[in-house]
Amino acid sequence: MSKVLIVAEHAGGKLNASTAKCVKAATALGSEIVVAVFAAPGSQVAAQAAALQGVSRVIEVHHAAHEHALAATLAPQVAEIAGSFTHVFGPSTTFGKDLMPRVAALLDAPQVSDVMSIESPTRFRRPIYAGNAITTVEVAADTKIVATIRIASFEAAAGGGTAKVESASPAAALPTHTRFVGLSAAGGDRPDLQSATKVVSGGRALASGEAFKLIYALADKLGAAVGASRAAVDAGYVPSDMQVGQTGKIIAPELYIAIGISGAIQHLTGIKDARTIVAINKDAEAPIFEVADIGLVGDLFTIVPELEKLIDASRK
Ligand SMILES: Cc1cc2nc3c(=O)[nH]c(=O)nc-3n(C[C@H](O)[C@H](O)[C@H](O)COP(=O)(O)OP(=O)(O)OC[C@H]3O[C@@H](n4cnc5c(N)ncnc54)[C@H](O)[C@@H]3O)c2cc1C
Repeated sequence: MSKVLIVAEHAGGKLNASTAKCVKAATALGSEIVVAVFAAPGSQVAAQAAALQGVSRVIEVHHAAHEHALAATLAPQVAEIAGSFTHVFGPSTTFGKDLMPRVAALLDAPQVSDVMSIESPTRFRRPIYAGNAITTVEVAADTKIVATIRIASFEAAAGGGTAKVESASPAAALPTHTRFVGLSAAGGDRPDLQSATKVVSGGRALASGEAFKLIYALADKLGAAVGASRAAVDAGYVPSDMQVGQTGKIIAPELYIAIGISGAIQHLTGIKDARTIVAINKDAEAPIFEVADIGLVGDLFTIVPELEKLIDASRK
C-alpha cells in the first residue's frame, strides 16, 4: 500500500491552502496520508493539518529554525522522515518548487513535477509546453517518488478530520551555510497571489508603475490579490513575484480580471484553471477575449474607475 508524506506549507501561524490540495491529490492513491509540519515551538499549524479530512497522522517537528521555511534547512529533515514512505508530496508553489528537488536529490529519487492528476501509484499526468500538451509519466515500481502537486488542479480537502499529532526530532544536522536574514514581500496585507480566490492583473497597457495604483485600488475594493503580465514585470512597473503565467505563477482563482493584457499563450497558461475570467482591453480582437467569460472593450483608464464607482454604489 502507498504511504504518502506531505510537507505542509504555512506562514504566520496559518496552514496554506496548498497543503489541503496536496492531501486531496494524495487521496487518489487510497493510501495512508501523513502531513509533516516543520514549525517554531508554540505553533498551532499541526492542529490545522490534523483537521484535514483524509489525513491519518501529523508529524510535528518543532525547532526555532523553522520560524521561516528555508529549503536548505528543511530538505535533510524531510529526507530523513521520508524513509518509510512510498511518496513524498509538496505543493507546486514557490515553497514546494524550492524544497522538493532538494528532497529528491537527497533521497536519490525521481521527481515528478506539477502533477495534475494521479492515475495510479506510479502513473501521473502533468502539463508540458506551457500547458499546451499533457504528458503521462510512468515511474518505475519500487521507487520512492517525490512529486510537486499542481494546486490549481485539485480542490482543497475538507476540514472536520481528527488525525493524531506526533512530535518528531529528526537527527539530520541543520546546515550552517544558509540562514534566514529577512523577508521582503510585496503586496502588504493583500491576499497571497497563488491561493487568492480573486485576482486583478495589469499588463503593459498600464504604461507605468504609478498607473498600477489603479489596479491596486480595484483589487483592494474586491479583496483581491494583484498579478501582472510579464511585459509589465519586464518594464519594471511591478516586482517579478507578481508575474502570472508560464514563467510566473500558475493560479486558479474563482475570479480573474485581466486589465490591459493581450492574452499571450504564456500568460493564459497561468490562468487556464480560473473559474471566471473578465478581460478589459481596448482591442476587440485581443486573444484574451477568446478565453474571457466577460469582455469589456474600451480604454482601461475609463473603465476601471467606472467599475470602482459601481462597486462603491452597490455597497451603499
Ligand atoms: C518563454 C516565454 C515565457 C513567457 N512567460 C510569460 C509569463 O509567465 N507571463 C506573461 O504574462 N507573459 C509571458 N511571456 C510573454 C508573453 O509572450 C507576452 O509578451 C506578454 O504576456 C505580453 O504582456 P501584455 O499582455 O501585458 O502586453 P501586450 O501583449 O503588449 O498587450 C497589451 C494589451 O493592452 C491593450 N491595451 C493597450 N492600451 C490599453 C488601454 N488604454 N486600455 C485597454 N487596453 C489597452 C492592448 O490592446 C494589448 O492587447 C513569455 C514569453 C516567452 C517567450
